[in-house]
Amino acid sequence: MLEDFIIGLGIDHFGYALIPEDYRPFPYLPYAISLGVPLSKTVVSSIRKGPTHTYFHHYRTTNAYLDNAAIRLMLYIEKLGKSAVYIPASQTVDSEGIRGLFSHKMAAFLAGLGGIGQNALFVSEKHGPALRLSTVLTDVPLQTGSPIQNPCTDCGICVQACPAGALTGETWHPGIPREELVDAKKCSLHMKKAYRSIGRGGVCGICMAVCPLCNAD
Ligand code: SF4
Ligand code: SF4
Repeated sequence: MLEDFIIGLGIDHFGYALIPEDYRPFPYLPYAISLGVPLSKTVVSSIRKGPTHTYFHHYRTTNAYLDNAAIRLMLYIEKLGKSAVYIPASQTVDSEGIRGLFSHKMAAFLAGLGGIGQNALFVSEKHGPALRLSTVLTDVPLQTGSPIQNPCTDCGICVQACPAGALTGETWHPGIPREELVDAKKCSLHMKKAYRSIGRGGVCGICMAVCPLCNAD
C-alpha cells in the first residue's frame, strides 16, 4: 500500500531502512523511507567544467519536488494513524551550513540503494551520483532493505576534477568520518568564491558530473 502511494508520487527510486539508535533525530521514529529523484542527464553533462544557472534551477526544483513528495507521504502516513516526519532534501542546521539534521546518504545506503563515492556523494547503481535524496522517518514497521556493493569504482576521476582540492581520494566504508573523504569547508568556500554569480555560490557539481556512472545505462 505504501509502495503504491510512493510510486503514485512519481518516485520510483526508494527503499526502507532501520536507522541505528544513535543516529535517530526522533527516537520514536526508527524507520527511514529513502526517496531518490534523478537529475537530468543533459543538465548534469553540461556542468563538467562548472555550474550553470540552468543547473542551479534544476537542483533547487528537484529538491522542491522531493520535499513535496516527502510532505505528501508524511501526511498519508499520519492519516493511517501512524507518525512520520520528513527531512528536507537540502537543509543545513549548523552555523557553518555544511551539515543536515539527518544523513539522507546513510538512509539510502542502509536501504540498499547504493553506496558513497570518493566524491563523498551518494552513488546509486542506476544514476551514479546524479540523484537527489530526501527521507521520511516513521514508526510504520517496514520490511527493510540491505546494503549492496558500493557502485563507486574508486577511479579517482572526481578527485582529480575538483577545482578546490577538497576531495582526499579516500575510499568510503561505513563509519568513516566525512572529514576523511572531503574538506566540506574548502568545498563551500570555493563555491562561494568561484560561483558567486550562480545561486550566490550554493552549487558546484563538478565532482558529480564527471563521474562515469552518471552516464551508465
Ligand atoms: S562540489 Fe565542486 S568544490 Fe565541492 S568537492 Fe565537488 S568538485 Fe570540489
Ligand atoms: S568518479 Fe570514480 S571515484 Fe568518483 S564517485 Fe564516480 S566512480 Fe567513484
